[in-house]
Parts: sequence; C-alpha cells; structure tokens
Amino acid sequence: MKILIIEDEKDLVRILKKGLEEHSFTVETAYEGEEGLYLAETFPYDAVVLDLMLPEIDGFSILERLRKSKKDVPVIVLTAKGGVEERVRGLNLGADDYIPKPFDFSELLARLRAVIRRHKGEASPVIEVSDLEIDMNSHRVRRAGREVQLTANEYKILEYLALHKGRVISRTELLEHIYDINSDPDSNVIDVYINYLRRKIDRDHDKKLIHTVRGAGYILKE
Ligand code: CA
Repeated sequence: MKILIIEDEKDLVRILKKGLEEHSFTVETAYEGEEGLYLAETFPYDAVVLDLMLPEIDGFSILERLRKSKKDVPVIVLTAKGGVEERVRGLNLGADDYIPKPFDFSELLARLRAVIRRHKGEASPVIEVSDLEIDMNSHRVRRAGREVQLTANEYKILEYLALHKGRVISRTELLEHIYDINSDPDSNVIDVYINYLRRKIDRDHDKKLIHTVRGAGYILKE
C-alpha cells in the first residue's frame, strides 16, 4: 500500500516514513504543497497524510482541489491545534479523518489502516478468502489455521490482492502500489513474487486461491 505524506516538517516526515515503511507501507513524501498536490493528482496512492500548515499552498486548498478533481483517495489531515473549527472545515472539505498534533505514531498507524480499509469496503482488519486469513494489523497470514511466513514484498502483494479480493489486479497496478517512484523494478518481478506466494499459500492445498487472468493480471478468490 502506498502512502503520500505532504508535510513541511522534515524531521516529522522522516520519522513517519521510517515508521510506516517498517509496517509494510511504501511511502512518498512532499515538503511543499504544490508538489504534494501534483503527486496526489498524478499517482495512485492508497491514502494521503496531509498537514494543514504548509508554505505556498495550505492543506485546505490542497484538499479542496483534490476533491474537485474527483480524486477520492482517503485523506488524513494533521491539524496543529486541533481546534474544532479547523477539524470541521477539514471534514467538510472531504477529509476522511484528522489527527491533532502532537500525536503518537501508533494512533496515526491505526487511523491510516482504518481509513484505507473503509475505503476498500473492508470492515474487519482480518481479511478472509476461503480458509486464508490476512491480519492487516499483525501482518500474520494463515492458511487453514496454519501460519504462513512471508517476506515483506510477498506480504505487500498479498495484502493488496486481499483488499481487492475478487477483482483482477494488473501487474502495473501492483507495481504502482508497492514500489516508490524512484525505484525502477523489472516488470516481471511481480510474477516472481506471485510464484513464491503460490508456493507458500496454494501448493499444499487442493483449492487454489491465487489465479492468473491471462493478459490482465492476478485475482485472489475462492
Ligand atoms: Ca507544517
């Protein structure tokens, strides 16, 4: 899952990026409003963390322009004072949630996961596909009750497929949501990971859950 952080406090950005990456998120950052708006309008993020107090163009304007351009990406607003007026204005402009500064990283993480889940129509943090369970909080994966050990990239791909279970996901979409813009992965890297996932999740079971849709991509379903 890919997150965009738009925030001008570089130390805070560094801490958030590091923390989120440790929790299997891919993170891109913008220190300025214009750049942040450009990135948010151009690339497919799974959520945006938006500070309100920014140089040049403030967070409210970014949110307004993002919603006008019909981008329905979930947005969590960081408010400096946590004033009621600010919060209400942010929510009215289409923010999905807000967090008053200073905040605990664990709170941001929990809220971020919650808005992403809601946005994808998934109420529970444990996604089930047949007898496969993916716990988005602990990142534990089980098949038929038995724990499956996955690497970070395998988990990211499985989580993305699970959040969109029953939908065909192209290799490009998987690449876009797992790698940051600065990396240039080989396009067959996804096929390699899918093979690893199949070995770990499907090989010992009659019922296969990861399916290839020729010319289109992959789908996770019963
Ligand atoms: Ca700021």
